[in-house]
Amino acid sequence: MQMKMNKQANKRRNAVILKTVLLAALIVFAVAVWLVKFHFVARSPYRVTHVFFHSLVVDPARGFSMTDDETWNEATPGFCQWMTTVHEFDQILQQLYDRGYVLVSLYDIVRITKDENGVAHVAPKKIYLPRGKTPFVLSIDDLSYYHSYDGRGCATRMIVGEDGKPTCEYVDASGQTLIGPYDCIPRLDAFLEKHPDFSYKGAKGTIALTGYNGIFGYRTDFCYRDHVNLDEDQQAFLDANPDFDWNAECEAARTVAQAILDDGWTFASHTWGHIRIGDAGIEWVRTDTQKWLEQVAPLIGGTDIIIFAHGQDLASWDEDYASTEKFQYLKSQGFSIYCNVDSSKYFVQIGDDFLRMGRRNLDGYRLYKAIYGGEDLVSDLIDAATVFDPQRPKDPILYQR
Ligand SMILES: [Zn+2]
Repeated sequence: MQMKMNKQANKRRNAVILKTVLLAALIVFAVAVWLVKFHFVARSPYRVTHVFFHSLVVDPARGFSMTDDETWNEATPGFCQWMTTVHEFDQILQQLYDRGYVLVSLYDIVRITKDENGVAHVAPKKIYLPRGKTPFVLSIDDLSYYHSYDGRGCATRMIVGEDGKPTCEYVDASGQTLIGPYDCIPRLDAFLEKHPDFSYKGAKGTIALTGYNGIFGYRTDFCYRDHVNLDEDQQAFLDANPDFDWNAECEAARTVAQAILDDGWTFASHTWGHIRIGDAGIEWVRTDTQKWLEQVAPLIGGTDIIIFAHGQDLASWDEDYASTEKFQYLKSQGFSIYCNVDSSKYFVQIGDDFLRMGRRNLDGYRLYKAIYGGEDLVSDLIDAATVFDPQRPKDPILYQR
């Protein structure tokens, strides 16, 4: 009798537990549905803005300087216009964050799948962000620390820090070599450490690399190995570094590339020779691409992204992009994402075999134009007046194109 009663009590207790568990599951499910439906909003990939930077100027006094050297002075307007300073970069990140922007990856806006013939197909993808947040994509051009940057107060090369993360080497005005966050990669990383919600699923930027002066400040191009076709700067570099070891240089570049990938960044081709893709004939495009694939791709593990230099694109806006000869060639070489420069808010085209995206420069030229040139194309992103580095020169001649 006693045992029978115990059994019944157990049954009742189990039923209560089951009911409670079911109810709890239902509540969790309802909350999840509510969160997804009301807290997260699907964002169209066609309304994602893309901003880009060059290597940062750490020391504006040197970066934008005029001297008694004519060749040096000829390059100064370029630095004033294309470069952003560390001060400006930090301000821009803070203002984007304050305005609810969230960094997403190019691969968050398209899905790329390969068919049985190995052809990559591209399809738009929706991003779910918390209500009130706006997605943006980031890229960084020419992280090569060209010889022409020497003495301009920029970092000198990327290295792997003691924590295994990418960081920079920088030579200050007194000639002292320092290690720290002197360029976009470690600068953004430091910001994200404080504000992890500034990035969607850990997304970082895309780094567009040329090859002719090597990558990340390492002189990996074949010309440094073979001592052929050297320009004046390259010859001067080799003369100043008699112990130069090309193999060690490539090994170091490979190590840095891996640390940057592990840190969540992606790489792109910026063409080997920083060519004008629109002006170049198809033969030149082929030669240049083969050089990039042979000399840069093996160091970084390859990529399917190409970011064109000089703001050019391989076709004009009214041409059928995918049917052009240059596109078909680059597609056959594995490229599926194509970026140009365009200052409109959104420039996103998605075809079956490509994503084509415009990028907006947040550099000295755009900042100057916004404040002093009566043309503010960045007001949706930043307040140019409070971003502009007080150490930046304001002479209009330096910002003329
Ligand atoms: Zn460039």
